[in-house]
Amino acid sequence: MSQVMIQPKPLREAPASVYCPICTHTVQVQVLVGGKQARVKPGQKCPRCASCIDAGCVLSISQAA
Ligand SMILES: [Zn+2]
Repeated sequence: MSQVMIQPKPLREAPASVYCPICTHTVQVQVLVGGKQARVKPGQKCPRCASCIDAGCVLSISQAA
């Protein structure tokens, strides 16, 4: 018997420019895009200051829909 994984939300990952409030720089991290909303994928760290980037602000998504 095979088990099918059902995802509740059709989120997709995409690289995006995210503003890091810790080091006040824009960095490239993965974000989760759902519809017109995008949020930082949890558990990532800022590549510049190594702080948790969860609170970062998504500025622009590299892959335009
Ligand atoms: Zn940072």
